[in-house]
Amino acid sequence: MTLEEKKAQWDAIQWPNTVTELHVHLGGSVPLYRLWEIALDRGIRGMGQGYEEFVQLIRREDSKVTDLDSYLEIYDRIELIQSGPDALRQSVIIAIHRAFLTGGMVHLGPGGEGAEGTPLFSIGNLELRFNPLKRTGAVFLKGEHAGLYDVDRVIRAACGAVEDVELGFRQRINTGILICFGRDMTHEANMILAKKVDKWIEREKKIIGIDLAGSESTNPLSDSTRLKEMKEVYDVAGKYLGRTVHVGETRHVDIETFINTIEALNPHRVAHPITACRAYWENNDDRGLKLLQERSLVCELCVKSNLLTGAVASVEEYGKVINTFDDFEIPYTFSTDAPSLQVTSLASELLLLFLHGAITTEQISRALKIAEQSTFLHSLE
Ligand SMILES: [Zn+2]
Repeated sequence: MTLEEKKAQWDAIQWPNTVTELHVHLGGSVPLYRLWEIALDRGIRGMGQGYEEFVQLIRREDSKVTDLDSYLEIYDRIELIQSGPDALRQSVIIAIHRAFLTGGMVHLGPGGEGAEGTPLFSIGNLELRFNPLKRTGAVFLKGEHAGLYDVDRVIRAACGAVEDVELGFRQRINTGILICFGRDMTHEANMILAKKVDKWIEREKKIIGIDLAGSESTNPLSDSTRLKEMKEVYDVAGKYLGRTVHVGETRHVDIETFINTIEALNPHRVAHPITACRAYWENNDDRGLKLLQERSLVCELCVKSNLLTGAVASVEEYGKVINTFDDFEIPYTFSTDAPSLQVTSLASELLLLFLHGAITTEQISRALKIAEQSTFLHSLE
């Protein structure tokens, strides 16, 4: 198919008015120019000589990112900018507005500003995830949990912001919050957060799920004691919530650890389970893929993020991931992970796959439907 024919096919796609995006981190979701303004307003240090340098520092692109660890490196700073109830509230409002406004735009300005009059669609259901303990001002003290701000106030600020945005939008966008635990946090810190979640879900219906995020090299959960500890965290916090987990993005998580993690944490969905494909392609080991299939685990795929971290080598290889999942009848969805840091949108990532022949229009609409069906927002109803 020629590029012109592909473009014509893309233009003929009947997009729904609203779509569901399942995997977006709050830290990567405030457009850079807005993040800079919050940092400036709060007097946060270490932001460079001005906006241009800040963008250079924060933006996640090929020249700076070689793996997951270098991808995650600037999150400490962003978490500091977003720390405390006021900045958190502002960040949540901006993040939801950003999704609605620019999620369906193919082109964005350099700081993540919307650059089109009419987007292809709006994000109508959004799952926004973040780690409240890392918004207490203790971010440079990894492992510590005594920050400047009160974690209860941070959680309450996030839920209040979600409710206010929904009122402002007259429910045209629904948002749920996922609380992320940290691979890089101590068990003690994760348990403190788990108990907070267990307490808050009684009154805050906007908390809909839990997740585990952070560096796989720091804590791959290959150690059975660490895995048992994380299971305890999930058991305390995730009884009544949707459960997802980042696992298998890097080679630090081998196929045994991947399987053990899923069996222990018992998630409903899995983020970036690329290890399962790698084991199959490289060693003909299909146990990971079969596990995803048997449990009907919905896979949250984030294209540009996976390419930046090297989890997937090329757009062409992304096509192979998608087709492998189809061969094993494993459901998958697409999200942007950190749209503002990567200056990207859901529409532009789908277009990237499509123009490279890595996805068909049928696979796109199926993935959008699966996202709608598998969102944890439904448990709110
Ligand atoms: Zn993620």
